[in-house]
Amino acid sequence: MFWPPENFILEELVCKHVFDKWGYNSWSFFDDRALRTIDIIRRRLNKRMIINNWKWGGEFTQRGLRCNQCQLVKDKTEAGIVYCTPHVRGIAFDFDVEGMVAEEVRQWLIKHKEILPVPIRLEAGVNWVHLDIAPVPTLEKITLFNP
Ligand SMILES: [Zn+2]
Ligand SMILES: [Zn+2]
Repeated sequence: MFWPPENFILEELVCKHVFDKWGYNSWSFFDDRALRTIDIIRRRLNKRMIINNWKWGGEFTQRGLRCNQCQLVKDKTEAGIVYCTPHVRGIAFDFDVEGMVAEEVRQWLIKHKEILPVPIRLEAGVNWVHLDIAPVPTLEKITLFNP
């Protein structure tokens, strides 16, 4: 059974390639702990979170699940670079929160880490929020990592 989040539609979470090919079945490509995590954050923050916006003509297409036809993945493949980003594993999202800069969002998450259903990783120092639930060798609720 899929676990569609309450606060996001599929098009915000997958690239158009995946949406066009798999439609509603694309939900099965996600780890539902990751979906639950962004859904809870969205509800608790109570502000708009922008992940992908290609459905409405926006520029963002690769901020959720990326497939092998997505440019970032394609470029790495063509350059002979091994690429195992959590974005291709259905456990990562990049987003902006309306009215907050990325560092404020990271600090908010650190302050409210008790709301998180599972431990998360946040990319440090970037001007968007990258959140994933890749396993880490620690019991910390939030791990900051450098790209
Ligand atoms: Zn794609
Ligand atoms: Zn990312």
